[in-house]
Amino acid sequence: MNLFERISNDGYEQIVFCHDKDVGLKAIIAIHDSTLGPGTGGCRMYPYATEDQALEDVLRLSRGMTYKASISGLKLGGAKAVIIGDPKKDKTPELLKRFGQYVETLKGRYITAKDVGINGDDLALVRRETNHVLGIEGVAGSSGDPSPLTAWGTYNGMKACAAHVWGTSSLKGKRIAVQGLGYVSFSLIGYLVKEGASVVGADVDPQAVARAQKEYGIDIVAPNEILAQDCDIVSPNALGAILNNLSIRELKCKVVAGAANNQLATDEDGAELMRRGIVYAPDYAINAGGLMNIYHELDGYNAERAYDHVGGIYKTIEDILVRAKKENQPTQRIADRMAEERIQNAKKKRS
Ligand code: NAD
Repeated sequence: MNLFERISNDGYEQIVFCHDKDVGLKAIIAIHDSTLGPGTGGCRMYPYATEDQALEDVLRLSRGMTYKASISGLKLGGAKAVIIGDPKKDKTPELLKRFGQYVETLKGRYITAKDVGINGDDLALVRRETNHVLGIEGVAGSSGDPSPLTAWGTYNGMKACAAHVWGTSSLKGKRIAVQGLGYVSFSLIGYLVKEGASVVGADVDPQAVARAQKEYGIDIVAPNEILAQDCDIVSPNALGAILNNLSIRELKCKVVAGAANNQLATDEDGAELMRRGIVYAPDYAINAGGLMNIYHELDGYNAERAYDHVGGIYKTIEDILVRAKKENQPTQRIADRMAEERIQNAKKKRS
């Protein structure tokens, strides 16, 4: 398939190839859809084996941002950037500043932020060349670390799932299996334990396990046992594609609600969850707290307003679950449809 056919099939607006031999910059910025607002999404730096892989990644991720911004009701479009290179070896101030100059050429059609391989210090260098940057930590007006907000949104989305399944949003007495005990889980478990849930967790990193045990005294099992726990809710907060034809058979829970990206290996796995009577909170809707948080930098950041807004993920998940039940469709398909409808409606209003 040629490139234009590929990008027109999924409705991409603009792909920018950024190159500077002197500083070793090879980057791609993809703006998927800017109907709802400026294309916003982090910049990832990764040693892609091939340029095709980098292109595929930026296309996939930018499209995902369109859906995340839309389902969350934000006035933002979807975009993403990738820099081809090893962040440990190839990252230099010159390269980052040159990337910033490319972002600036788009005059706000693309707003960049952090992603894998790009940290707050890197963004500060990008920011020297362009104002179209969100999520720099430690500077005035910054929204800070997004993980606690992602956790707050995930917690609220989980409560909406509980209300849907058990008729009450309370998580008191619920047994919750948490996969991954990193930044998001650490805050999330705080909310769960406070509400009286019983938590079992797993992580491949012994330090993460020790930290969660010390702080919250939760139960711990081996990483390969966490999804099969006898529990009410499974919360994936580590890896993508963990809901697949093998793992789904092991699940004993009624709800899957976690922050990990791309949890479903395939769309069909979402349908299988539905057939098994397991309520799945679509990942990009429940984990949008980080994006919603940086969005608030655009109008002058205020943490209280950001937490309030992110708490609205409860309603987003509730709306998805109600409609999915009514239309007898898997929740991830309904979330996609709702995100697409918002964009179509905005387009209609404009024309
Ligand atoms: P993190 O890297 O701090 O935590 C992930 C944890 O998962 C790590 O402790 C890691 O050791 C563990 N892990 C890796 N493989 C595992 C396995 N096989 N079994 C059990 N544990 C394993 O990341 P985070 O910031 O807490 O994010 C968690 C997830 O949420 C990620 O998938 C991330 O992409 C997604 N997410 C995060 C944010 C955010 O604001 N941080 C926003 C949206 C989505």
